[in-house]
Parts: sequence; structure tokens; C-alpha cells
Amino acid sequence: MSTFVYAFTEGNKDMKDLLGGKGANLAEMVKLGIPVPPGFTISTEACRAYLEEGHSPDSLQVQVTTALRNMEADMGKKLGQADNPLLVSVRSGAKFSMPGMMETVLNIGLNDESVHGLATRSGNSRFAWDSYRRLIQMFGKTVLDIDGDLFSEAFDNAKEGLGIEQDTDLDVEALQGIVEEFKAIVERETGAPFPLDPREQLDAAVEAVFRSWNTERAAIYRRRERIPHDLGTAVNIQAMVFGNQGSNSGTGVCFTRDPSSGQGGVYGDYLVNAQGEDVVAGIRNTLSLEALENIDKASYDELMATMHTLETHYRDMCDIEFTVENGKLWLLQTRVGKRTASAAFRIAAQLVEEKLITRDEALARVSGEQLTQLLFPQFDDEAEKTVLTKGMAASPGAAVGEIVFSNAQAVERTNAGADVILVRRETNPDDLEGMVVAAGILTARGGKTSHAAEVARGMGRCCVVGAEALIIDEKNGTMKIRGTDRVLHAGDVIAIDGTSGEVFLGDVPVMPSPVTVYISEGLDAGLAAAQDQATKELVTSVHLLLTHADRRAKLTVRANADAPEDAARARAYGATGIGLCRTEHMFLGDRRQLIEKVILAETDEQRDSAFDALFPLQKGDFIGIFEAMDGLPTTVRLIDPPLHEFLPDITDLSVKIAVKEATGEEVTEEERKLLDTVREQHEQNPMLGLRGVRLGLKIRGLFGLQIRAIAEAAADRLEAGGHPLPEIMVPLVGSARELQIIREDAERIIAEVGESRGVKLTIPIGAMIELPRAAITADSLAEEADFFSFGTNDLTQTAWGFSRDDVEATFFNEYFDLGVFGVSPFESIDTRGVGNLVSVGMKNARSVKPSIHCGVCGEHGGDPLSIHFFHKVGLDYVSCSPFRVPVARLEAGRAAVSNESPDDF
Ligand code: PEP
Ligand code: MG
Repeated sequence: MSTFVYAFTEGNKDMKDLLGGKGANLAEMVKLGIPVPPGFTISTEACRAYLEEGHSPDSLQVQVTTALRNMEADMGKKLGQADNPLLVSVRSGAKFSMPGMMETVLNIGLNDESVHGLATRSGNSRFAWDSYRRLIQMFGKTVLDIDGDLFSEAFDNAKEGLGIEQDTDLDVEALQGIVEEFKAIVERETGAPFPLDPREQLDAAVEAVFRSWNTERAAIYRRRERIPHDLGTAVNIQAMVFGNQGSNSGTGVCFTRDPSSGQGGVYGDYLVNAQGEDVVAGIRNTLSLEALENIDKASYDELMATMHTLETHYRDMCDIEFTVENGKLWLLQTRVGKRTASAAFRIAAQLVEEKLITRDEALARVSGEQLTQLLFPQFDDEAEKTVLTKGMAASPGAAVGEIVFSNAQAVERTNAGADVILVRRETNPDDLEGMVVAAGILTARGGKTSHAAEVARGMGRCCVVGAEALIIDEKNGTMKIRGTDRVLHAGDVIAIDGTSGEVFLGDVPVMPSPVTVYISEGLDAGLAAAQDQATKELVTSVHLLLTHADRRAKLTVRANADAPEDAARARAYGATGIGLCRTEHMFLGDRRQLIEKVILAETDEQRDSAFDALFPLQKGDFIGIFEAMDGLPTTVRLIDPPLHEFLPDITDLSVKIAVKEATGEEVTEEERKLLDTVREQHEQNPMLGLRGVRLGLKIRGLFGLQIRAIAEAAADRLEAGGHPLPEIMVPLVGSARELQIIREDAERIIAEVGESRGVKLTIPIGAMIELPRAAITADSLAEEADFFSFGTNDLTQTAWGFSRDDVEATFFNEYFDLGVFGVSPFESIDTRGVGNLVSVGMKNARSVKPSIHCGVCGEHGGDPLSIHFFHKVGLDYVSCSPFRVPVARLEAGRAAVSNESPDDF
């Protein structure tokens, strides 16, 4: 027979899988001799069995009986005993805290008889009847699924009828009336009377807690927090103690340090003559913890000593719930407290300072996500805001500006000195200019790896995508919010929060981040930017942990950057090189016509002359980047996207020509030719068509032009006394032969340039692994490659067969709901599938070249969970957007100090 029930005396804090966080910590407190009302925990295993079978296992009933009898013996009273009732609370408690997501029922054991016993024993009839009405209300709503409003309305009506405002002013008679009315509601709504049998109440409440695991809000919360859906919850049954027995009773919540700022010293709230729910619900104003010292010094002193014991024992900030019942202190819960990002860094550093934890432990207690929150400017939490709508938080930050609907407007208004938010249905590479100047980007369509999101993250630009309630009319310059009559116009001010996805009306004040100043300009500058002592402590805490992470990390961190300013920023943020310089961005804007000429060329001469025009520009790009990254490796990826991205849109061009034809206007020969070429280049699935190395092999001179520009730029830098370290990377390689041909071309060109310039050029040539075939045959590719970089964006696309520009917006929400995956595989590496391809690719490559340098440059290179996986697989580096570099540095260090096993992924 499985053991489903554990007395508090049988567990400990390490049994969270089985007993949930609350149960495990209650047991730990009992072990420490801290006063905890007796009770027992029903395991998560029982919950899983219930959810699977649709009913509780028989043996659970038997084990509950035994545990309950032991508890009754301890307490000297029985559950619901008429003259002296034992009352219990039934509370959920999963492995991970899910605040407010699941249910609690208090005062189980009260009925028409025991309410009198409670009244007599407590000497407080009002308290007894109030407890009884609370039971029927909670039980009705939670266990019997009755609409909670029916109870609240009846309660409010009763108060109104009596002309009473405060709940506490209801007298015994009024409460008795309410109890009768509540019972009538139960009978009316369920067709059966409120169960008076205490054990029946208990069993039904336990099952309700089991069921609450699967409520929608709990499922949504788990998805957001990445908590697995199959864990189930434990249930804690605990003797009730009452803080609402009069003025020497009360209840409170406290923390051993401030969870919001991280300030040292205890922190908490206390309510005299109240039950736990009253504190959280904010029904009455609470007192500060210090007030308890004046009210009840003995309980206060005991509480302080207990807090100290708990923090020393857990070696971390603890969150505690307590009740004082007639001058006796009881601890109802403790756990390692949740905290804000700043508090996490400050508390970890304080505990190192106090020599309570090691630096490695401190590192494990902060996260890259928390660091991200500290880096971006933030909206002032205190400010009043009007929410217009909510989209997906694609790139963090806080931006305020005038609405603009086009690139041209964005540039014009920015030049006029305005901050702008570029609002688009969706963005494409043509919007780059507008995106560069905008303070923020808002789109109605697209997912977190849509073009807008990817580019915005790359630039560290605040971005919200997929705000589907927006109806954007670019022509008329209006933006409506679906389901409301609100219409906004170009020029109206909005604010967008790239951390929450919210869109606000009007200006919202923004606060700068001294942590960013520290990371880019050093400790002294960061400290100078901090306006108060707490922020200075935050800056030194981040410094302590980030430098420790750098010391411990095995993975190095490079950046994805393709402009000198980005490269410089990456370097300032601590990048050890560029892992991906996407060269296609260099062919947009004015240069688009030049590449158009390459595509339209009919003869070698025409093409060569187009190449000649491009060459000096491309060489200039590389000189700028090599200069910014002097002494650090810079991986330049040869042009990757399909050619049609550089040509006009097929529909726009067809319409333009058709209109001209219809109106009798002359269509030039050039226009016709352009349309023919556009048609020719049009592909049904361009992501799988003529791109990457395939393009390089079809238009041989294109890669050649880039390789020569790289070599010449390196030669220029050498002559100028610099130390350029370029690397050439070939995209979308699938076979060794493809790479071999490009490599031969490249080696020849590099040798030619070296000879003509009289310099020694050593430029490694490597491949991106972006196709399953490349991963599986990485051993043969390794013969031709000096390094590999896993392009996990394309590898995810090709492994799943997901078109990355389309799938997120079209069906990922359904996939989340169906549990196909908990998080988008474009956001966090799908370890079982795509991750396995990385791992296989590594093994294959190293079987041929044991020390071949391998990295990753997909978006996953900046994702904490993925970074831990890449560490485990043994990659040498990750490359991510410049703004993610500090996060990746921290996570690379955290991965190195963690004991994660392959099963953790
Ligand atoms: C990739 O595919 O992971 C990659 C980095 O290349 P891109 O996103 O430019 O296709
Ligand atoms: Mg790619």
C-alpha cells in the first residue's frame, strides 16, 4: 500500500516533491522545535492518483483516519466534537508556490452543534458564529462550486439591512441569520443540505483542493512560471488556531529581510484580533511588526528569535505566517521568500558578506531574468496608468512617445526632436530605419521571434508584438482598440512596457537604471548614478555576483552584432567577441539598389560593375567592426537570406504596373524586367529555398565579394597597427561538398589579398549548423571547418518543420493549451529534439577534431535555460544580442556552479 499521508513529524524540508513546499517546511519547523499547530500532509502522489482515477484511492481514507486520530489524541479533542471541537484547515501546497491559484478551506468541523461548543469554550459566541459562516461560504464556493457572489451579496444585503458597515459590527444574532441564509443558498444551488458531518466536510475539502490543481487560472500560472502540469498538489490538514479571539490574539505575515528592496532587518504586518485571510485581503489597515512589541512583548520576542532561527537554518530570507492565539505564538507557514530582482541580488550579497553562504551559492540564487529586469529603464510603479491593451512582451524596457505609423514619419518626427513609438501591423526588414530611431515598437501581429521582436531585442529596443486588439489604419493614421470606441491618432502619446506587454495611454514616468550604467561604464560610474544607499548596495551586489560568474564560467559570451556601435556596446557589456555578424543588414537602405543591380545583371560585366560599387562600402563596414572589436574574434556570416528580400514586394510591383497599364501610362522596360525577376525569385517557401550557401554557390561572386572585403579590411587594420581577428562563417550548410567549394574560393581570395598587401592573414573558416543533416553529418563537415556555430533559430525551424515567421502567431497558443510544449521552442531550446541535434552534432564534430571550437548564435544563446543546456553539452561559447550579454555571463557562471544533470533538461 502506498503511503499517502505523512504526519508533520515525519517530513523534512527536502521532501517538497512529495509533501509540497508548505508541507515540507511545516515538517522542518516541527523538527526545529518551533511551535506549529499539529497536522499532517496528504502527498502529491495522492493528488496525482485522484486526478488520474477521478476519485481518491481507498487507502487514502484509511490513512487519513489514522492520522486524524493521532492528531485528536494529541489535541485532546475530536474533529467537530460537540462540546469542544477540533477544527482544521485544509490547504493546498504544491512543490512550487502558486500564490492564490488553488484553494483553502478553514474551520472544517463546525456544524449546528459544535458551533455552540466553540462558543462556550472560547467564551466568544460572535467568534464562533462568524467562523461557522466563513466555513459555509468557503466550502460552498470551493467545494460545491457555488458562485461566490451569491454569498457575498447575501452578506452585504444583511449588513445593509442592519445599517452596518464593518463586518466586525455584526452581532451574534445577525451572524446566526446569515448562517441560515448561507445554508439555504447551498441547498437551493446543489439540491442537498450543507454537510454537517465533520469527516464528510474534510474529505470533500481535500478532493476540492486536488481538483483545484486543474483550474484554468492554476494552469495559466504554471504555464507562465514554467511549472510542469503533472506535479499535482499536496494537501495540508492542520489544527486551527485563531487570531480572532480578542485583543490578545492576532495574525501576521513577516519576512526576515525586506522582500521588495532587500533591505536588511525584519519586515512585516500584524493585525490584532483577525484571521489570516484578513491580512492578505487588506480588509483592515495592518500595523507594522514593531507594533506587536508594544502589544505583546513576549510573543514579539519569541517571534524575533524564531525568525532568526529560521533564517540561520534556511540560510536565506524567509517568509513567515504566524498567529497569536490568546498570547500564544504559532507558526503557520514558512518558506524561502519570493523577492524582487533587486532584493534577490542584495540579499544574496548580504548573506555572502555575513558569511552565511558561499559565493557559488549566492550565484545560484540570482537569475539572468532578474538581472534583465535591473538593466532596462522601468516605468515608475507608483505612477497612475491607463491600460489600452496588452500584447506579447517581446523586448524589455519602457518607452514613451508619439504614435507614428511609418518609417518616414518615424524619421521625420525624430528629427524634429520627438520620441516616437513605431506602430505597425507587423514589421519587415524595410522598417529597420524606423525601428532604429523609435523609442519603442508596437505591432498588432507576430510572435516573440517575429522580425520586429528579433530586431528590437538585437537593438535593445523596447518592443511589444502581437497586440491583437489593435486595428491599425496606416493610411488614415488611426489606431482603434477592438471592443472599445477609443481611436488614437498619429501624434498621440502612448507608453509601452516591453517587460509586461502592456500598452498605456499618455506619458508614464520612466526611471533610468544605474545597473546598466555600472555594466557599461564600470563600478564607479554605476555608484555615481545610484541616487540612494539602497541602489548603491544593489550596484555593488550585482558587481560581486557578475564578477564571480565570470570567474566560474566555462562558456564564454560573444555577441550578435552587425554595426560598429553594437559591437562597441557588446564589448562594453563584457562580450569576448562577435559570434554572429549578419551581413545582410548591410545591404538594406540606400544599398538595396546596388544589390538589385547584382540580381538583375544579365552579363558578367554588369554584375562585376555592381560588385565593384558594393565592395568599398562592404569593406568600410568590416573596418568599422574590426576596429570596434580590436583584439577580439569577429565571426562574419556571409549573406544568408533569399534574394527576393532585396527586391520590391511582388504584389506592390504587380499592382503598380497593372495600374499604369490600365491608365495608359507608359511602363518602362526596366520596370517590366524588374517584375519578371521578382516573379522568378519568388519562392513558395523562401526559408527553405535559394538562401545561405546555396545562394553563394549560385551567384559565386557574391560570397567572393564579401570574403575579399573581409580580407582587405583586415589588411587595412593590420597596416593601421590594429589586431583584427576575423572569422568567416558559411550559413545553411548541409553537405561537406558545399563547404569545401566555398572554402577553396575563400582560401584563394585570402591568399591573394595577403600577397598583394604583403600581410599574413589567418582567417578561420567555419560553418553554421542549421539543418538536421548538418548536425548528423558534422563529422564530415568538420573535415572542412575550423569552427562550428549552431544556428538554433533555423535548426528549430528545420527540425520541427515550423516556418518561424508564421507559426507562433497562428497556432502556438493552442499548442500551449494542449501541452505540446510549455514554452516556445524558438525561445528556449527544445532540449529533447533540437538540443539533441546540437549534442549529436558536437559529438560527431569532436570525434574528428577533438578541440574544434563550437558555439551557438541563435536566439537561444541569450536564454538562461538554454545556456545551462549548452554548458552541459560542452559548447565553448554562446552568442547573443549585446543587451543579453550580461545575462548570458551571469547564466554561464550559474550553469558552472550548478549540479544539473542531463535529466534536468
Ligand atoms: C539561426 O538560424 O539560428 C541564426 C542565428 O541565423 P538567422 O537567425 O539569421 O537565420
Ligand atoms: Mg539562420
